Amino acid sequence: MDLTFSESETAFRDELRRWLAANPPPPEPSDVEDGQFARRRDWQRQLNDGGWAAPHWPQEYGGRGASPTESAIYFEELGRARVPQPANTLGLLLGGPTLMAWGTDEQKERFLPPILSAEEIWCQGFSEPDAGSDLAALKTRAVFDGDDWVVTGQKVWTSGAQHSKWCMLVARTDFEVAKHKGLTYFLMDVEQEAVEIRPLRQITGEAEFNELFIEEARIPDANVIGGAGNGWKVALTTLMNERAGLGFALQVRLRQQLDDLLAIASERGLLDDPLVADALADLHVRCESIRLLAWKGLSDAERYGQPGPEGSLVKWLWSDTNQRLSQLAAEVVGPEALTAGTHWSYELLRARGNSIEGGTTEVLKNIVAERVLGLPRLKAAA
Ligand SMILES: Cc1cc2nc3c(=O)[nH]c(=O)nc-3n(C[C@H](O)[C@H](O)[C@H](O)COP(=O)(O)OP(=O)(O)OC[C@H]3O[C@@H](n4cnc5c(N)ncnc54)[C@H](O)[C@@H]3O)c2cc1C
Repeated sequence: MDLTFSESETAFRDELRRWLAANPPPPEPSDVEDGQFARRRDWQRQLNDGGWAAPHWPQEYGGRGASPTESAIYFEELGRARVPQPANTLGLLLGGPTLMAWGTDEQKERFLPPILSAEEIWCQGFSEPDAGSDLAALKTRAVFDGDDWVVTGQKVWTSGAQHSKWCMLVARTDFEVAKHKGLTYFLMDVEQEAVEIRPLRQITGEAEFNELFIEEARIPDANVIGGAGNGWKVALTTLMNERAGLGFALQVRLRQQLDDLLAIASERGLLDDPLVADALADLHVRCESIRLLAWKGLSDAERYGQPGPEGSLVKWLWSDTNQRLSQLAAEVVGPEALTAGTHWSYELLRARGNSIEGGTTEVLKNIVAERVLGLPRLKAAA
């Protein structure tokens, strides 16, 4: 794989750099959750006005038809400029691509533009109290009634639901068939009385995710994505995009965190401490491996048209490395990193969830073993 940029890729990067230099994000708000969200929403509008909200989307849907390499440049440049995440990350990276793969023309026309402009925020309603890793075990049920589906059940860990209009909801619609076959993928309007959103406060102090209690919510049949009974395949498209797209953006942020930590260690004269130097060198090697694996994932997506299971490897290595990094930061920075409200204490606490969110490390290891390395399936081996 050749990582030298072509002339047009260099031109793409330079255009984006110029735009970012001329269009800085809105200033940091005081440390209030809603203020942060409003800033990210304004920033996404700004990106969209400049044609930079989702360059990886095809031109006909408001993107630039960027190649995977250009998309990688995009994430790296955004990382380099240290701008905030757009408010509708799940819509841009997961929902939009899922809709483009499975949606009807009417659905694309209706739902894609407000994803780009951040007018309508999306969240992901997959996990339930008894269905996380084993998503197909979910119990939320949808029954057809007139022109609508009537949905009852409970979702959990729904990130950003408090800001969202649309929920990518997987529900059981057929109870007679094998569990993977009886699922349907819906777009549910969460702004209805039948959907109660209760925030869950995390160890960091913020309430990033929520419980959803759904009591006979109505979803028009027109909001089924990919056809009734086809929900498992549609959900897999969302999950593959989650691991590939988010994985790339996250490895860029990991590098920044390491650069920051290196600077602090240097300021404190800790680079001469062999234990610290050794741990930093290990993190550097890990960051480079993850970066190259993420690039490889993108080139595979270019070749095969869809992200592959290698995204699981990137996600697993990223979460492990980020946890090591924030742990080392606590040692390098000292007591300040253990004081509530500081940057590094937030990173230390937030990193705990990395090996759970978007697929737990144990489950990702199974995927890598079976689908990347071709090892025998656990059940067959048993
Ligand atoms: C910060 C954060 C944000 C999240 N945001 C969302 C969101 O927006 N939308 C959403 O739908 N979900 C979200 N989730 C939920 C997340 O996807 C689930 O937590 C995850 O899939 C694991 O499911 P579970 O918590 O039910 O654990 P379980 O699946 O019950 O797993 C429990 C333990 O058993 C292990 N285990 C399970 N199956 C296997 C197996 N086959 N082999 C080996 N070990 C196994 C797991 O690794 C884990 O250690 C979020 C989670 C976090 C932490």
